Amino acid sequence: MAGTLRQIPISQTLSFTTPGRIPFSVEFMPPRDDAAEERLWNAAEAFHDLGVSFASVTYGAGGGTRERTLRVAEKLATKPLTTLVHMTLVNHTEEQLRDMLRGYADLGLTNLLALRGDPPGDPNGPWVSTPGGFDYACQLIDLVVDMPECGNFDIGIASFPEGHFRAKDLEADTAHTLRKLRAGAQYSITQMFFDVEHYLRLRDRLAAADREHGSKPIIPGLMPITSLRSVRKQMELAGAALPTEVEKRLLDAARGDEEANRDAIREVGIEITTAMAERLIAEGAPDLHFMTMNNVRATQEVLHNLGMAPAWGPGLGHDVVR
Ligand SMILES: Cc1cc2nc3c(=O)[nH]c(=O)nc-3n(C[C@H](O)[C@H](O)[C@H](O)COP(=O)(O)OP(=O)(O)OC[C@H]3O[C@@H](n4cnc5c(N)ncnc54)[C@H](O)[C@@H]3O)c2cc1C
Repeated sequence: MAGTLRQIPISQTLSFTTPGRIPFSVEFMPPRDDAAEERLWNAAEAFHDLGVSFASVTYGAGGGTRERTLRVAEKLATKPLTTLVHMTLVNHTEEQLRDMLRGYADLGLTNLLALRGDPPGDPNGPWVSTPGGFDYACQLIDLVVDMPECGNFDIGIASFPEGHFRAKDLEADTAHTLRKLRAGAQYSITQMFFDVEHYLRLRDRLAAADREHGSKPIIPGLMPITSLRSVRKQMELAGAALPTEVEKRLLDAARGDEEANRDAIREVGIEITTAMAERLIAEGAPDLHFMTMNNVRATQEVLHNLGMAPAWGPGLGHDVVR
């Protein structure tokens, strides 16, 4: 049945106002096994109850999660949650990309995050072209815009507060990001970062380079830190590093034993994300996008600190948000 899941365009959700709060959204990953599946659906229910404005579903390297991404996105949309599907070019020919886009259009999954992706195996290794495929996310946007079936798609892209690690310099990074916005993307979601100044400079750079397209909404991507090991790994995958000041605060909390001082590290991590979110709200960010790794509590704690969610915990009356 064509277009059964009517989706609100993400770019519209950014203008929905609720007194005292800005919209927030979450990123989910397709689950790998039954236990992860259960955790994901619990998280989806909880975020639904907390008033999340949209949920995005990542797309695994090499297209391995093609079916899982689609299945999760379809189910999320029926919750109902406004759903954003990530799509990459890795190992796909243009024909395969067209097929997938037709599939999304048929279902009514019209919110798309157009990405290139990274090479499978070593994400920081050289990009590998697929014969008959594309090399840049802007080409995927051109394809979507060219397909009549995708006429009602709302397209988002990735942007990089510190510049993409493969871009020659910030000027080239700005030009490539603008190319995607001019091709038809309505907004961007950033790579995670831990220095708000980088987000603000990205916003300045884009707006200065093109007042119309460069001023499209930039949604900050936030990852509440709950473990030093995992945040270091995420930053490495993103080709970036933790700011020295943030790393120092986390190391101080770890006091030489990350395992024994897990709770202290987590507490500092939540404090750091809360302070960043407060500044981003004051600076007029359109939405806070949390990279949740399919967990609820860390994000909820940040939202609670911001006055955007009830507290967790025995005796607080809101222990069981599903
Ligand atoms: C919010 C967010 C969500 C993500 N979700 C996923 C996911 O679900 N799955 C996944 O595998 N990855 C995901 N990624 C990672 C992303 O795929 C990688 O960061 C990838 O390296 C870049 O993707 P892109 O879409 O920005 O690529 P592009 O915009 O194509 O840019 C890739 C590189 O090429 C350069 N470039 C762009 N256009 C040109 C051009 N015309 N000529 C020369 N150089 C050019 C850019 O500066 C950049 O260095 C996500 C990233 C973010 C920020």
